[in-house]
Amino acid sequence: MQKQIIKNIKAVLEFYNALGFERLPIKLKVSGQSIVNGRESRDRVATTEIKSQKTHDSRLTTHEPLLDKEAALKALREGIGECNRCRLSKERTHIVFGEGNPRSRLMFIGEAPGKEEDLQARPFVGDAGMLLKRLIEKMGFKREDVYIANIIKCRPPMNRDPEKDEIEQCRNFVERQIEIINPEIIMCLGRISAQTLIGNVGLKISAIRGKFFDYKGIPLMPTFHPAYLIRNPKDKWLTWEDAQKVLEKFKK
Ligand code: URA
Repeated sequence: MQKQIIKNIKAVLEFYNALGFERLPIKLKVSGQSIVNGRESRDRVATTEIKSQKTHDSRLTTHEPLLDKEAALKALREGIGECNRCRLSKERTHIVFGEGNPRSRLMFIGEAPGKEEDLQARPFVGDAGMLLKRLIEKMGFKREDVYIANIIKCRPPMNRDPEKDEIEQCRNFVERQIEIINPEIIMCLGRISAQTLIGNVGLKISAIRGKFFDYKGIPLMPTFHPAYLIRNPKDKWLTWEDAQKVLEKFKK
């Protein structure tokens, strides 16, 4: 009987886990309260968090406190608010903040949301996202083991390149995300991402991909943007080479 109850609870937790919940906010009402002078004393309400068994891939997860990182990311998102700091706010549907494992040792940073990302408020969920997912899986991980963000949080109209002032308005947010997540390696997807974080707008992605750069002490690997690889599939193997260098660095 007891075994069955535990099994049922486990099944429910696994169900929530599969839906993406990492913990259940539960208000625990302690029963058996005393009756004082004919009146019920106030319920003692304890709030507890039941952590699910979900563990991200341990090879890619640091031991830094998860709740601190989640709280810092939440505060950052709240600070961004319904942003209208630049003209991109006028045409966007949603701000695309970023998502993934806040304790990940690996962070992918793209350029800006596209159409699908703008609709779903999630990074890399369109065709380029499918290719990125395949790359992550080829590296031996799952999408949810890494953290994915963009330099720009709102979709530029017609997917045009973000302009300089738009990047300047938005870059603090991705820089703060990097600071919070504190990954061991950053992979920059495409020219805009690499140029922005390396701090040199003259760099060509074909010249810098495959070489490690330094971003505030964090090794940064520029590689081709998945959207470019969709148009130029023959260059996929170069991105795979870059990914292998990242994997090698983790081993060191
Ligand atoms: N391209 C990007 O750079 N970022 C996304 O989120 C989607 C496509």
